[in-house]
Amino acid sequence: MNGRVMIAGLMILVLLMAVVPLAAGAEDASTLYVKKVENLPEDFIFGMDVSSVIAEENSGVKYFDFDGNEADLFRVLADNGINYIRVRVWNNPWDADGNGFGGGNCDIANAVEIGKRATAAGQKLLVDFHYSDFWADPGKQMVPRAWKGMEIEEKTEAVYEYTKDCLMQLKEAGVDVGMVQTGNETNGALCGETIWFNIQYLMQAGARATREVYPDALVALHFANPEKADSYATYAKKMDYYKVDYDVFATSYYPYWHGTLDNLSAVLTEIADTYGKKVMVMETSYAWTDADSDFSGNTISGGSGIVKDYPFSPQGQANCIRNITDTVVNRTPAGIGVVYWEGAWITVGTGSWEENHAIWEKYGSGWASSYARVYDPADAGKYYGGSAVDNQTFFDPQGKPLESLKVFRLMRDGNEIPAVPDALEDVTVICDLNAPLVLPETVNAVMTDDSKQAVPVVWNLSEEDDRKMHEGGVAQYTVTGDAGGMEAICYVSMIEYNYLTDYSFEEESRAWVITDLKKADELYIEDKKTDSLTGSKHMHFWSAAQNSVEFKLEQTVADLPEGKFRFSASIMGGDCGETEIFAYVKINGETVAKSDLMPITGYNNWNMGTTPVFEHTAGQEVTVGVYVKCQGAGNGAWGKIDDCLLNSVQ
Ligand code: CA
Repeated sequence: MNGRVMIAGLMILVLLMAVVPLAAGAEDASTLYVKKVENLPEDFIFGMDVSSVIAEENSGVKYFDFDGNEADLFRVLADNGINYIRVRVWNNPWDADGNGFGGGNCDIANAVEIGKRATAAGQKLLVDFHYSDFWADPGKQMVPRAWKGMEIEEKTEAVYEYTKDCLMQLKEAGVDVGMVQTGNETNGALCGETIWFNIQYLMQAGARATREVYPDALVALHFANPEKADSYATYAKKMDYYKVDYDVFATSYYPYWHGTLDNLSAVLTEIADTYGKKVMVMETSYAWTDADSDFSGNTISGGSGIVKDYPFSPQGQANCIRNITDTVVNRTPAGIGVVYWEGAWITVGTGSWEENHAIWEKYGSGWASSYARVYDPADAGKYYGGSAVDNQTFFDPQGKPLESLKVFRLMRDGNEIPAVPDALEDVTVICDLNAPLVLPETVNAVMTDDSKQAVPVVWNLSEEDDRKMHEGGVAQYTVTGDAGGMEAICYVSMIEYNYLTDYSFEEESRAWVITDLKKADELYIEDKKTDSLTGSKHMHFWSAAQNSVEFKLEQTVADLPEGKFRFSASIMGGDCGETEIFAYVKINGETVAKSDLMPITGYNNWNMGTTPVFEHTAGQEVTVGVYVKCQGAGNGAWGKIDDCLLNSVQ
């Protein structure tokens, strides 16, 4: 409250709050749940990579503050706890005609511009040299065109001179550079070199230039894929062996791909303890929505088939960043910071791909333009497009900040407000057409405090809907509901009820009785999904000798209600020769219904046998069964039985 509210004032405020909700964006009124990060140092680095921002602004993108006013992005970030700005630097991301390769056209002039604005907002600059003309990452470390064909000695000198020149330009512009990284995600390659003996010279050259121009700046090395712990141990060992000059061992950590926080903690702890280096997360991000807003696909979306530890919501994004920060602060020694990657790379327009494409080509605000083909024809020159992270930003498509941006500031003291549902798990219900539809009274929710709870739900299901579903035969429906203010979804499958226990053998229930009349070599419930009709298990038989397969598979059903029923079962197999296979029903020991003979027609050719309808009255004992007799051929008869159904018939 900035110390302006005294006790009396506080009481008035409380009274006001009872009748008038606080205005959005008002101090301390955040709806974002943030668990406090203990021991968070005052100077902990909260960085944001905004390398594309100049190209974005040239493209017409505007940013706003929490009061809804158009504002300088750097100010908005600074006001929300971002004290470092990271910028990538490419040697020459332009073609011979002066067309930019895109991705922000991030040359040193772009970095100077960004650096000046960061410095004006009180932020330090983190300079990310790729030593390439375009993107460098674990899959790609291409040498700049101007340095092509250079021997390692000459290239080392070129890196030194180039780094020094760039840093001098920043210094002359008065930019407050706090850290310099010599290479980007250098997993065993840098600037076209692929052996550590050469790579270390280039890293040394970058460090030497940095020490000369910005002696107080930290020198960082940056790697990717911490989930490969052995690789990280190797990188650190090589750096130690070659006595590479650096202060910070930095890693990318994208939660979708880069392993658990436990692993991150273990890997960074090992390096910090063994080599006495500072450690940090140099790149991270998380999606706040499934949706793409710029017509150019994103690295992460709902259909990515990835493990989701957090909902794709601003709250999920905030919890993710909070937990990464907590890991770096409290679960690694010498953890100095977390940098979020391209948190402002939003769409340049909401009209169409064609409209945006023209803008990306002109201003370089997409990840790559078609002009990049002169340098990277296989990838950028082919798949050029817009932002692949517009769903992982801290701004909506109109440039308004998301509540999640407040997480950096709120982590210091926490904002542990009462938790409410943030995402709901979809529900699936299977309902017998002859039984009442019972929907669950609660749904599972991920709460804003990252816990999981069952939340009461009210379903939108009228008597009329219910009646139609029961009259509509076998079909699927979607029912929506309200759970704690969020829309719940229930998928209902209306089915014919099956009165058997363990109809598909998944539970290996003792309800099934096997009578082996010829002592087959193999006759048991097998766990093999590819050979099952439903689930992963089925009744399996095989026997080598001729005429050694003859068995009955039966289940006696207790408490079958009065009424009309039919029984069916499915079978597949091979090498059976002559067979006699059928499904049947016995009442009080007397066979009352028998299916037609079920043929054996090969692997995964399932054939169903269904008995005629039979009638059951209370007190009678009903047994259903499958009779199998095979002569056998070749290497012996084999087969599988699955999905036995005892349904009522109206
Ligand atoms: Ca996109």
